[in-house]
Amino acid sequence: MKTALMVAEKPSLAASLANILSNGRCTTRKGLNGSCSVHEWVGQFRSETVNLKMTSVCGHVMTLDFIGKYNNWDKVDPAELFSCSTEKKEAVPKLKIPYFLAKEGAHCDYLVLWLDCDKEGENICFEVINAVQQGMHRKLHINDIWRARFSAITEKDIKAALANLIKPNENEAKSVDARQELDLRIGCAFTRYQTKFFQGKYGDLDVSLISYGPCQTPTLGFCVQRHDEIQTFKPDPYWVLQVTVKSSDGQDIVLSWGRVRSFDKEVANMFLSHVKEHDQATVVSVQSTEKSKSRPIALNTVELMRVASSGLGMGPQHAMQIAERLYTQGYISYPRTETTSYPENFDLLSTLKQQQNSPEWGEEVRQIIGTGINRPKKGHDAGDHPPITPMKHATRNELDGDSWRLYDYITRHFIATLARDCRYLSTTVKFEIGMEIFTTTGHSLLSPGYTSILTWQALGSSDTLPKFTPDEKVNIQEAKLVECYTQPPDYLTEAELISLMEKHGIGTDASIPVHINNICIRNYVTVAAGRKLIPTSLGIVLVHGYQKIDPELVLPTMRSAVEEQLNLIALGRADFYAVLQHTVEIFKQKFHYFVQSIEAMDQLFEVSFSPLSASGKAHSRCGKCRRYMKYIQTKPSRMHCAHCNETYNLPQNGNIRIYKELKCPLDDFELLSWSTGTRGKSYTFCPYCYNNPPFRDMKKGMSGCNSCTHPTCPHGMNSNGLSSCLECDLGILVLDPSAAPKWKLGCNRCDVIIHLFENAHKVTVDTDTCDCGAQLVTVEYKQDKSKLPNEVTEMSGCVFCTAAFVALVEKHRAVASKPVITRGRGHAKSRNRGKPKPPKDKMAQLAAYFV
Ligand SMILES: [Zn+2]
Ligand SMILES: [Zn+2]
Ligand SMILES: [Zn+2]
Ligand SMILES: [Zn+2]
Ligand SMILES: [Zn+2]
Repeated sequence: MKTALMVAEKPSLAASLANILSNGRCTTRKGLNGSCSVHEWVGQFRSETVNLKMTSVCGHVMTLDFIGKYNNWDKVDPAELFSCSTEKKEAVPKLKIPYFLAKEGAHCDYLVLWLDCDKEGENICFEVINAVQQGMHRKLHINDIWRARFSAITEKDIKAALANLIKPNENEAKSVDARQELDLRIGCAFTRYQTKFFQGKYGDLDVSLISYGPCQTPTLGFCVQRHDEIQTFKPDPYWVLQVTVKSSDGQDIVLSWGRVRSFDKEVANMFLSHVKEHDQATVVSVQSTEKSKSRPIALNTVELMRVASSGLGMGPQHAMQIAERLYTQGYISYPRTETTSYPENFDLLSTLKQQQNSPEWGEEVRQIIGTGINRPKKGHDAGDHPPITPMKHATRNELDGDSWRLYDYITRHFIATLARDCRYLSTTVKFEIGMEIFTTTGHSLLSPGYTSILTWQALGSSDTLPKFTPDEKVNIQEAKLVECYTQPPDYLTEAELISLMEKHGIGTDASIPVHINNICIRNYVTVAAGRKLIPTSLGIVLVHGYQKIDPELVLPTMRSAVEEQLNLIALGRADFYAVLQHTVEIFKQKFHYFVQSIEAMDQLFEVSFSPLSASGKAHSRCGKCRRYMKYIQTKPSRMHCAHCNETYNLPQNGNIRIYKELKCPLDDFELLSWSTGTRGKSYTFCPYCYNNPPFRDMKKGMSGCNSCTHPTCPHGMNSNGLSSCLECDLGILVLDPSAAPKWKLGCNRCDVIIHLFENAHKVTVDTDTCDCGAQLVTVEYKQDKSKLPNEVTEMSGCVFCTAAFVALVEKHRAVASKPVITRGRGHAKSRNRGKPKPPKDKMAQLAAYFV
């Protein structure tokens, strides 16, 4: 029997798809990477009985990166990044997706791609095809590779997709490749150059990355532009003539002035005194017209993000994550779509009927079904997916808070598109006082239509008018001048930003939330109440800097032109290489001009930030000039010697302390200790060696004295190293004397930590070796604190073999660092108090370093 391999975008989707296609009769096993499952059954495929195998990837299989040496910030001129080689790397190496796909696909006869139906999904299709082909002796024929097209995880959609397989679209996939490459080259070149330039100069620049993105920066530009408008705004006073009259049934009605306002107080006063000559106003006319508020057009992604932000207070990134989960669980159709028009054959009625028993909106739904549904308004058909639609009924209890609120909105919006428009009567009454005209307007509801579902759009009941008749005279209660000021615009709301991005063609429905999220997490804007976006001083300085040097770097025009080209690639109307080459060339020239003109931007930075020499506090001594260097705590934390004008990077995210005023024997710099807390990692290091590793096995910015192989250094691995690591291949367990009295051994490669001899007075590593290969240690306790047998105060032995030490040694992994995926059967989780595997000979390993 032949085999068909089917691949979905996420493990949860593979499970749902397999369940639907096999009618719940598939068997499931874990894949070899532990994250993806394989679902198998026998069934029909293109009128053949075959073995069907459904599995998944976890998003993108590959990611684009520069080849190794170009990832070194110090050795590579960023200008080279426009032309250097790139390579596709595994996106998440630990998942081993390509290997997994090659194994599962090795003997398959057909490949069916069930990736999400958008451009990213199309791109992943080709990553999957490549990976599967790798494992085959005989490559799959193009006729045996199929693409399933679907918009919702429902039985009907999925089975229809299998019956109507198409071919994967290589042009769409290529447009994604082009976007990735452009973003990588342009983004990295500008980002590296700026970050190095400004971080090396300013101490209170509280940011680890000064990034540039061809999409992200124009997005920030919109926020800063609004900020500038607010800053330069000058309020103007104006005057409004306000007249209040009493209607025949005794209501006070405030009238609007026909001239609206006057910017000249003298003139306004003249009109006031004219009106004051009268105590009655005459009704000139009463006019009523029927008006309607139109029901919404069907929902697309951009509108969903806008409403989620303005109405539900959810950021676009968060909202889209929830929407995707609702889609995966089959509650809504695919949430990434530009389309706002239902296809002719879309079964609106049965979709609506699923909602008729809901306690939330069932009554309204039954009413619409009773009177017959209204054809939805014609929107835009992008030809990708139907609009975002609820596909199955859900109750308040089965979804968590935000999921329910989003589902509730999506469903109400859908129902509203099938309801009638809201109709109301608008009545305007015109008054005359002497020569001046005044009006008042009111509404009365004729039929609520869709506003009984989208209740927040309902007409207010407060603005109904009392009855007036033409030629009627009404008494003027009051006439006065009101002084007002023109109002500055407010900061952009997220919803407004989304609209601007859409209007200018920046980003796509998939990337808009990412760009907005990026400018927030990179500290260029902060989100204030009402989801208003307020630029930080860094965000403002950056945008103003680009504007001074090359405004096109911030303007949306460049990017939208590129997005247009990318779209042409997707449609097969533009050549991938030509677009890529042309765009890279333009940005390369812009980059060179930017580098030449950087002083213009620097002048702005000087105003907002303090130079390194004026920041931080005196800390430890420089080995070159013996003066105190300054410790700059704002991220990324650094040491700066003002006299030598040198900056030294430090290990991040921990505490930095001076270590007993000891000095590095190689360069005389004072040693420091770094620690992430008593349960976390720690080591001592020399700030100079940390940045300029003296030995080839010390990696720059990776480690400290615990990797120093200086043969006589009293702080190095030779003096404090104990044995090979128990968990990793290359690591050495090294005693950290700065951790006393919470003594610990830490691996200089991985996260293994061994706590030992708590509250001991002194712990030293001996020159003698135990039979197991580990160095012996000597521990000393103060008289009253001894934990050793018979309360002896000093003892030598092996941490792994000496029975008396077993209770005083406790192994675990660093807790303050990032969580570690445990390998194998969780042996790393159990506290290893027993005898571990014998360590390899440490001295042999050390010797190897000197070869
Ligand atoms: Zn110095
Ligand atoms: Zn040193
Ligand atoms: Zn050393
Ligand atoms: Zn290790
Ligand atoms: Zn031993």
